[in-house]
Amino acid sequence: MIPKTTPRPSTDMQLLAPLILCLAAAACQALDAPAQAAPNPDEPWDWSDEYVHSVVNRVRAGRDLNPDSWPGGARVAVLLSLDVDNETISGLRTGTFSIGPLSQGEYGARVALPRIVRLLDEENIPATFFFPAWSLKLAPEQAEVINASGMHEIGVHGWIHELNTALDGPTEERLLRQAMDAIEEITGERPVGYRAPSWNHSPNTLDILLELGFLYESSLMADDRPYELLQNGQATGLVELPVEWILDDAPLFNPRGNSYMNPRDVMQVWIDEFDKAWDEGTMFLLTMHPHVSGHRSRIVALEGLIDHIQARGNVWFATHEDAARYVREQAGMD
Ligand SMILES: [Zn+2]
Repeated sequence: MIPKTTPRPSTDMQLLAPLILCLAAAACQALDAPAQAAPNPDEPWDWSDEYVHSVVNRVRAGRDLNPDSWPGGARVAVLLSLDVDNETISGLRTGTFSIGPLSQGEYGARVALPRIVRLLDEENIPATFFFPAWSLKLAPEQAEVINASGMHEIGVHGWIHELNTALDGPTEERLLRQAMDAIEEITGERPVGYRAPSWNHSPNTLDILLELGFLYESSLMADDRPYELLQNGQATGLVELPVEWILDDAPLFNPRGNSYMNPRDVMQVWIDEFDKAWDEGTMFLLTMHPHVSGHRSRIVALEGLIDHIQARGNVWFATHEDAARYVREQAGMD
């Protein structure tokens, strides 16, 4: 009743024109193809109860996995994500690349990522770096920079930041498998964490993640706290570490977009999010992109956030992997 795959647009131009304007990772999500075709998409008011439930229940939030306290009695877990999109988001993913935007992606590997890692290492703060395989294949030296301290994690973020929601299941799975192989070949370790390109799932993504045995997934937005994913109402055993566009640098740092904010104002949004997480005793997960946040005038936002978090204290800085393992253990899932 619900098709497993999504038809491709009839011509490439239907995707091409808007994607040329897609300058930041966040803006790309809205351009993804619809996740699944409805039987009568122009008349959703006529859908049956059964059909609506089947749509929303495909992937849904299950039990809350937020522990009573984090390691060391910490009140809040602080998880920093770096989605290392580099050239893949500058056009490789759509085939609409040109040299100028590609050079902005190159800045991510050459300048921004080392600058961010230097800051994290000086502050002794672990983080998780999600790579589209091609970002690492183009600049494999990034793995040495990240792994020098031994405290960071590398996760997978697709093959070429492909629009996974526009792919059939076998293609999506093939690209993810080859991305895992490529990352493992360069780093020596197979990723245990998945972040979907553009933070969306196709109707097949969860099946693929379960088949490949991931420890956690981090692309969905049903909570501020870690939770277990349900598939058609059934517990999957897969930990979700949720993201949110509010806690992403790309939408607010696009200098050519209409939502541009001063980095110090963006920092205040992050601080407010952290303070509420601290008050509630939950989790603060922030996503940045090296090619976005690693500029000189923007890294002040991360520096200021770290200063604020450290001043407040009683937090646990962790990789996503360590957080996922901890919540699994606390919830008796192992
Ligand atoms: Zn990305």
